[in-house]
Amino acid sequence: MVERQLRRRGISDERVLEAMGEVPRERFLDPDLRGDAYRDGAVTIAEGQTMSQPWVVARMTSLLELRGHERVLEVGTGSGYGAAVLSRCCQEVVTIERHAVLAERAAAVLAELGYANVEVRTGDGTAGAPDRAPFGGELVTAVAEERPPPALIEQLEPGAALVCPVRDAEGEFLTLYRDGTAERLAAVRFVPLVSG
Ligand code: SAH
Repeated sequence: MVERQLRRRGISDERVLEAMGEVPRERFLDPDLRGDAYRDGAVTIAEGQTMSQPWVVARMTSLLELRGHERVLEVGTGSGYGAAVLSRCCQEVVTIERHAVLAERAAAVLAELGYANVEVRTGDGTAGAPDRAPFGGELVTAVAEERPPPALIEQLEPGAALVCPVRDAEGEFLTLYRDGTAERLAAVRFVPLVSG
């Protein structure tokens, strides 16, 4: 996976490549789906949600340009796989999931694997985690309409990046926000970001 799906397709952040070589992706899936773990695509998990394609996880994580000392916020824990990868690249991760069942499962797997620097919360991630802000990077793994939730922008450290898929009239694009600028990147497909 690391060589064929990531390095060969332009992922060059060694911290991210090492994390993705280390985190056992199959552990974040139900036993009957483990055969799909290293497939070059998204995999369906419970509650009609998905675990993102390996390349998407790598690209999004790389865009944060993590150096290891940051506290990072993830909105949309899903399986917990993305949080596990992030946890190998920074100091601490706070991840929020609106489906309690998913949050509980993800927390259990992360604990089994000994990834102790991840805090999993159940709730609406569009409000961020004001009690833990500011963050040295933020990832949203569900698609927002038109713009990212304003609370997330407010909870960024100066110079830090927010990576969020955004849908507008032209389509759905991974978008990088930093210091008041927005840069549109790859066309992507994500489940909707549901607030409230
Ligand atoms: N990073 C995940 C991918 C999760 S898919 C992984 O590696 O498996 C996106 C997730 O975002 C879904 O689980 C969905 O329930 C969750 N989600 C959608 N809107 C949300 C919101 N407002 N707050 C928190 N989680 C949300």
